[in-house]
Amino acid sequence: MAVMLPTIMKNLFSRPETRLYPAEVRELYPHTRGHIEFEEEKCVFCTMCAKRCPSGAITVDRDNKTWTLEPFRCIVCETCIEGCPREAIKLIEQWRTPACAKPTEVYRSAAKQV
Ligand code: SF4
Ligand code: SF4
Repeated sequence: MAVMLPTIMKNLFSRPETRLYPAEVRELYPHTRGHIEFEEEKCVFCTMCAKRCPSGAITVDRDNKTWTLEPFRCIVCETCIEGCPREAIKLIEQWRTPACAKPTEVYRSAAKQV
């Protein structure tokens, strides 16, 4: 017991090593790969992002001017961001909200809808 006493005293008067999650949420590191977001008004439907995506998460229909993302296939590698000539895809450092289903996000060009 005497051997353990210094450790007990140290632990009694030091801060806990763990965080009181969810009350205390750790700040994300700079350049955290959270998820990608698409800005349809910048897109010219060139299909470069879909061709470069290693997980097949992006589908671009040039004729119908639609851009489709299957977010739960995305591995946030940023290849589409690097390859987009119009900077229409950007990295958001916040994690995507967890979900029970795997929705597909479909964006249509406003120009096509008119
Ligand atoms: S690479 Fe950029 S401009 Fe081309 S289809 Fe993808 S998001 Fe649109
Ligand atoms: S970040 Fe990578 S995996 Fe995700 S959509 Fe872009 S290219 Fe595909």
